[in-house]
Amino acid sequence: MAKTLEPIPGTSDLWEPEVSQWVRLENAAREVFSLYGYGEIRTPVFERTEVFVGSIGEETEVVQKEMYTFEDRGGRSLTLRPEGTAGVLRAIAYSGLQQGEEKRVFYTGPMFRGERPAAGRRRQFHQIGVEAVGRSNPYMDAECIAMAMRYLDELGLDNVRLLLNSRGVPEERIQASEGMRAYFSKVSDALCEDCQNRLQRNVWRILDCKQEGCQEIIENAPAVLSLMGKESNEFFDEVVSQLDTMGVKYELAPRLVRGLDYYEHTVFELVSDSEQLGAQNALAGGGRYQVSLPGSSKKVPGVGFALGMERLLMALGVTEQPKASMADIQVYMASLGNAKQAAFSLAEKVRSWGIHVFAENENKSMKAQMRAANKFGATAALILGDDESANNTVICKHMETGEQVELPQADLQGHLQQILGAC
Ligand code: AMP
Repeated sequence: MAKTLEPIPGTSDLWEPEVSQWVRLENAAREVFSLYGYGEIRTPVFERTEVFVGSIGEETEVVQKEMYTFEDRGGRSLTLRPEGTAGVLRAIAYSGLQQGEEKRVFYTGPMFRGERPAAGRRRQFHQIGVEAVGRSNPYMDAECIAMAMRYLDELGLDNVRLLLNSRGVPEERIQASEGMRAYFSKVSDALCEDCQNRLQRNVWRILDCKQEGCQEIIENAPAVLSLMGKESNEFFDEVVSQLDTMGVKYELAPRLVRGLDYYEHTVFELVSDSEQLGAQNALAGGGRYQVSLPGSSKKVPGVGFALGMERLLMALGVTEQPKASMADIQVYMASLGNAKQAAFSLAEKVRSWGIHVFAENENKSMKAQMRAANKFGATAALILGDDESANNTVICKHMETGEQVELPQADLQGHLQQILGAC
């Protein structure tokens, strides 16, 4: 196979029947999220670069190493969205958000990160995400988490654990950073090179490091909330108590910080114990944030999460089918002689009854047409020749039994319903 036909590593083509599974995830999202008042939003897949840099944070892995940034013909710096929140917040701010007003939206679509491709780690991946924007209180956080759990439940996914922590508020984080820096400074020689840099630039990012050597050190780091003050701890206690009241199960993860800088207060991750996922076991991540938007000094508060669709499907056991396939065909419309035009009209009529039809558009022998009907997996073949067309009849062949009847076209709907089951 020519290399140039292959999709770029870390991206893939999607075919039926897998695409139907993607649609199922999207439909379930629409159903569950609308119970909580979330409406769908669709924003552009690229934005001005500053929309992401300002909100995600200069020191994050995503901004430093993973963004697909390019200059357009007008010399503007644009970036393919690496995540959904920044663009959604930009759109909400652009449409106008009154003080104290809350907007709830969900989105689905592709995100782009220049990561090293691996199972469950792609360069173009897809997320289903939600944002409740404009207000800040612990009830929203707990409700948002409960909604994520309800969604997974609706999909039939169990074996999912909810990991919960707080990033605290920025005012308390300055002092907390010093506590964290004091701990890591003592063991800095054992940290990887990246983490040694992080120690000076943004100590919290060390907690995200996946290097084995750093992991052991991170395990013994102070719990984030132990370094924070009253405001952060009280807010978190309320989120936890609300989750308890709603019966949502969680595990405290005292060193979870998540990879983006805009989070404050609640952060959470949904991890799957499903074997299919292997190392990339995070199905979703989210939390409360304050996002800075270009040209505005006011930060916008909100809470949300994003689920990775590829990983959801892996956890559900849906495997990729790199094989071109079409929608299921129930009826193959064959024609002979000069009856092709009439056959195409009849096919249209059959479709109006909700039946999937492939009408043969090439001139083929009857034998070749029956072979094609078999290849499509059609249950029935309709055959229209000049005589049938003149008499307003049609021949219907049951492909499995080989049984064949000629009947008036006026009776065809009832006959097909019998063969195909209710339609
Ligand atoms: P994040 O904002 O990085 O936590 O992403 C939220 C979710 O999106 C993750 O939990 C994954 O399910 C999914 N995700 C993030 N990055 C990738 C990727 N490179 N490939 C596939 N899924 C991803």
